[in-house]
Amino acid sequence: MKIGMIGLGIMGKPMAKNLLKAGYELTVFDLNAETVAEVVACGAKSAPSGIAAAAGAELVLTMLPNSPHVKSVMLGDEGVGQAMDKGATFIDMSSINPMASREIAAELEKLGVEMLDAPVSGGEPKAIDGTLSFMVGGKQEVFDRYHEVLCTMGSSVVLCGDIGAGNVTKLCNQIVVAVNIAAVSEALMLGQKAGVKPDAIYQAIRGGLAGSTVMDAKAPMMMDRNFKPGFRIDLHIKDLNNVLDTAKAVDSPMLLTNQVMEMMKVLHSDGKGIYDHSAICQFYEKLTNMDIQR
Ligand code: NAD
Repeated sequence: MKIGMIGLGIMGKPMAKNLLKAGYELTVFDLNAETVAEVVACGAKSAPSGIAAAAGAELVLTMLPNSPHVKSVMLGDEGVGQAMDKGATFIDMSSINPMASREIAAELEKLGVEMLDAPVSGGEPKAIDGTLSFMVGGKQEVFDRYHEVLCTMGSSVVLCGDIGAGNVTKLCNQIVVAVNIAAVSEALMLGQKAGVKPDAIYQAIRGGLAGSTVMDAKAPMMMDRNFKPGFRIDLHIKDLNNVLDTAKAVDSPMLLTNQVMEMMKVLHSDGKGIYDHSAICQFYEKLTNMDIQR
């Protein structure tokens, strides 16, 4: 199958490599020539534009930062949608606003192109291992047709509903992750100030009801002072902005998300937006003038 792929960043690059390993014929485009060269070295063809990457492809994939990027790449007279064959399919794997996914799908439908929104969770390590979790929105028959392609990049591929449902689910995921990291930070700081070592607290509670994948991934990073991303605070701010826009549109209460968003904005202003989101603990450290240490 001929696939065109646009966006080869932290996530897109290893995902493209897994498609190549599975034997798909891949033509790629990214604004960054260095990352393109790395994927070409693994067997992809390079295209001079998104339109050229999509020409003649049965399937076009994007892995771009946010809604405006996906819209500008796909829509309009100069958009990739115009270059796609009637009957071809577009799968956007970026985490974007679900309302934007629905808008893009409606425009592409006019051109005879089907769309799935299929954001992922798991981060760079799981993108490399091909064990991402895909949350998908769209028609069942389109999902069934490309399920196998997504399975080369992920170990869990779940259809959540109609178009936009993938990104709604991803926003739910991002709420749980953000609030969970803030709760771990708040708890470890309280424990340390009350005289118990954070590592003892972590070891004691990780197997019980309070334990979580988030705690296992992020508590050690906090205690080891390792804030190398992973998933940058600035990207999480982007996702929580999409959460709050969506919540406003459907009138849903966002008490906890709003509080963690304020913490992340403070960290961004302090120049820490480039750190992994485990650095939410640094908001508490700023208030207490004390680092969380093992
Ligand atoms: P990234 O910034 O590393 O990569 C984005 C890539 O898109 C870059 O290589 C950039 O050059 C390219 N790009 C931007 N505009 C372009 C255009 N107009 N044409 C062609 N290429 C263009 O971002 P990432 O970390 O790979 O994340 C991609 C998406 O995946 C985001 O929506 C993010 O929220 C989501 N995501 C990221 C992670 C993570 O841990 N990094 C985890 C899950 C989901």
